[in-house]
Amino acid sequence: MSLSFDNTEKAFAYKSDKDLKKAKFLFSTMNYPLFVTLGTRLTPFLMKTGLPINGILRNTIFKQFVGGETLQETAPVVNLLDKYNVKVILDYGVEGKEGEDNFDKATEEFVRVIEYAATQKNIPFISIKITGLARFALLETLNEAPRLRSGIHDNELENDEWERVKDRMYHICEVAAQHNVGVLIDAEETWIQDPIDRLTMEMMEHFNKEKVVVYNTIQLYRHDRLDFLKLSHRIAKQANFLLGVKLVRGAYMEKERERAAQKRYPDPIQTNKENTDKDFNEAVKYCISNINEIAVIVASHNEQSNLLAFDLLNKNSIAVNHSHIHFSQLYGMSDNITFNLADTNCSVSKYLPFGPIRDVIPYLMRRAQENSSVAGQTGRELGLIKKELARRKGK
Ligand SMILES: Cc1cc2nc3c(=O)[nH]c(=O)nc-3n(C[C@H](O)[C@H](O)[C@H](O)COP(=O)(O)OP(=O)(O)OC[C@H]3O[C@@H](n4cnc5c(N)ncnc54)[C@H](O)[C@@H]3O)c2cc1C
Repeated sequence: MSLSFDNTEKAFAYKSDKDLKKAKFLFSTMNYPLFVTLGTRLTPFLMKTGLPINGILRNTIFKQFVGGETLQETAPVVNLLDKYNVKVILDYGVEGKEGEDNFDKATEEFVRVIEYAATQKNIPFISIKITGLARFALLETLNEAPRLRSGIHDNELENDEWERVKDRMYHICEVAAQHNVGVLIDAEETWIQDPIDRLTMEMMEHFNKEKVVVYNTIQLYRHDRLDFLKLSHRIAKQANFLLGVKLVRGAYMEKERERAAQKRYPDPIQTNKENTDKDFNEAVKYCISNINEIAVIVASHNEQSNLLAFDLLNKNSIAVNHSHIHFSQLYGMSDNITFNLADTNCSVSKYLPFGPIRDVIPYLMRRAQENSSVAGQTGRELGLIKKELARRKGK
């Protein structure tokens, strides 16, 4: 079976001319690195001043990358994607809200999201950031705790606090298992990732015995993660559970490099993009060659990596809609990959965040950076949008 990502008619069939023109304007703006740098620094500050910036954000970057402020507002986007055989990973975009009350509220919201997902035929997964359920500084402390003690650490209050985080996760995963909805745990900064990995492995051991409910995220821009993937697989085999993984390159590269330089420890990120690509593709190969024991989500906007996964499935006579393989791109990006994969009957989704504007600002800032001309994605998006607008005009 052959696959091409060049068909912009299929890619943008769900967008009106007006929407496409708006997207063209947005990506053209993000083509100016200075604008993105200023915007990402000033926006969080301007939000606090009470200036009427919400309206501008809502009609531009928010509309492009986010489903809506509430589940209700997001539902039409979910339904629209379903018309094109595209699934949804629903992401309640709570970030950076600290305090036990907020963590408990977030837990309830995640449960609500799972219950909603279970009523929709095209929402197989929800995603979670552990920093939405746990204090960042607690995760940092646990990250520092000696590994041999499995992160157990001698501060009773903090141990209790960690137990509450585990309870929250356990509750969420239990509801998800009952409703047949997968839970994807996002990967975050290296200096808090160890406790996230430990907790996720614990949840997988409990919930992934017969089917895959919980997935960890492997960031292949880290030079130690291909080994970590193989180690996770060995542990899963020994403990007799199925491994679930979402493969990503990684979203915090600049921050990681800056911190490593500042604190003078070895950079955790690969020395160059080629090495990130190499490890990502190796991880895809590894997972597909162990598809009976690993459920994998190829979460990428890289055409070559997606084609590689698709070709490997065909070469190994694995159905493209096998329950252990799934593809995903962020909502607002790489529609040419998503909609062309969907057209060949692959199981593919958009990662769709929703939440109040002020809560999704960190997510939007990461998207602006990822799509700035420095990072290189803008050219791709803009080129595709222009091609489709020209095609529609020439009809
Ligand atoms: C469904 C989904 C879920 C996601 N979940 C997470 C998550 O949980 N955690 C997370 O961190 N990210 C997550 N991401 C974001 C993802 O990390 C970025 O979208 C991704 O890194 C962009 O890379 P790409 O695979 O699309 O390919 P490309 O556009 O080919 O690669 C760009 C990426 O390559 C890497 N890179 C670029 N330059 C260099 C360099 N000089 N040296 C080394 N590496 C380099 C960076 O990671 C950069 O983002 C998710 C993405 C999707 C689609």
